[in-house]
Amino acid sequence: MRTVSRSLRARTLRSLTRGPLGLSRRAASSFMTSYEAHKAERAAQGIVPLPLDATQTASLIEEMKTSQDPKLLALLEHRVPPGVDEAAYVKADYLAALAKGTETNDLISKKKAVELLGTMQGGYNIAPLIDALEDAEVAETACTALKHTILVFDAFHDVKAKMDAGNEYAKKVIESWAAAEWFTSKPEVKEKLTFTVFKVAGETNTDDLSPAPDAWSRPDIPLHALAMLKFDRADGFFTGQQDGCKDVLEIEGEIIDGLKCEQVFELSDASAERSAAGCAVKVGEESISEYLTSNITMLKWMVSEGYGDPRTLQRRAASMQNWLDAPSPKLMAADASATYHTTIEIPLEEITEGPHGDGTNTPIDEVFIGSCMTNIGHFRAAGKMLDEEGFFAIYGKVGARTEMPGCSLCMGNQARVADKATVVSTSTRNFPNRLGKGANVYLASAELAAVAAIKGRLPTPAEYLEEWKKVDSKSADVYKYLNFDTLDSYQSSADKIEISEEIQAAAAKL
Ligand code: SF4
Repeated sequence: MRTVSRSLRARTLRSLTRGPLGLSRRAASSFMTSYEAHKAERAAQGIVPLPLDATQTASLIEEMKTSQDPKLLALLEHRVPPGVDEAAYVKADYLAALAKGTETNDLISKKKAVELLGTMQGGYNIAPLIDALEDAEVAETACTALKHTILVFDAFHDVKAKMDAGNEYAKKVIESWAAAEWFTSKPEVKEKLTFTVFKVAGETNTDDLSPAPDAWSRPDIPLHALAMLKFDRADGFFTGQQDGCKDVLEIEGEIIDGLKCEQVFELSDASAERSAAGCAVKVGEESISEYLTSNITMLKWMVSEGYGDPRTLQRRAASMQNWLDAPSPKLMAADASATYHTTIEIPLEEITEGPHGDGTNTPIDEVFIGSCMTNIGHFRAAGKMLDEEGFFAIYGKVGARTEMPGCSLCMGNQARVADKATVVSTSTRNFPNRLGKGANVYLASAELAAVAAIKGRLPTPAEYLEEWKKVDSKSADVYKYLNFDTLDSYQSSADKIEISEEIQAAAAKL
């Protein structure tokens, strides 16, 4: 659950209702007119109107204060997204005020306000619903709403505290959750369901259904759906199998055993983007222990810095510590009797570094080093190849543009390369159009990408190996990962966090 401080929330709401972006009574009265115009515009494209944003929701609420038009209530009920975005906050904040009685509205009684809070699934509606368990007038309604709300995260403990203090409604909520009434009350699944399955040759992937050039419209799903299958479908890793493949990959081997978790993430990330349905990598206990030890420090440091939710973070840290302290910590492993669709043996001694294929000397227009396939070790190595010191400074010095963390060019949702550019990229897919319109992509390691950036073309294997020497002699320092427990500034803050016995007991049950 995203944490937004009370003061920020209050400020946000004030700015929406009265601040510079705020709405005068006159502007509010034009809300329905502008909404109807938007609805008509979307209908012309064959799509539903956008859900209301925070400013519109605030505007709607203002209009509801002076108008009894049931259409307004219907919009508040059905057109504000549930969950934790700002519009949901504005809605939940107003409903909470109505539920408490600090606001009144002829369209929404106290009971109706609680009922509507109960439809918001989780997030900003949870605290007012839990508060309402103390109000005899609406406690029964809040109890019913909470019984069917499971996205409560740590607020579970607030309900339990009320139960322990003798609140009958809180007790009913906990009992209902324990009996999974939210699930058992759903209609029975029919004995027989009939589906139509469309079987297509090759592989269908995200780029077919959500083309990268239209990434800008992804938050607007109905509009984005209009771009579905706009390009020819591409072949993928598994296309050798005629019916395509959505198998789970299991990767293991002597060398894999000793990889750091950060390195293993690259393998699993790559498998997901190659349309595997899942990926399990068998790593040694030492790597997991190192990673968890580092994470415990980071989680405690986050608590010391005021990140939310402290109870959740501490329980996670305690749970990791329990695993580390166990006499024989358990790691997932394949069943001895498991059978596999295909087993691919990759003799690593036969794998050579550097560019493969006959593309060497191909001019390169742009190089992208990033995506979830590039950990800090690779950034450092690319930095060493481009220069000698401080890799972020190096990227600036050599004219590289540093993007905000995220999928970025890999998904085409934060940046794009120039039309028809030839690109070397460390991401996971080389489909045409993924990185830019008509872009031609060579996939490479960060190290090879750095050499391509230096040369302005794909290097020959000999040229690559020559540049690689800049990293080779320093590889112990270059391929070093973030072990927070070895960083004084993190560890000293983490040392100040004592995990309570109550939280440790809760973690032991996880
Ligand atoms: S960075 Fe690329 S590979 Fe990784 S999750 Fe994002 S889109 Fe997928």
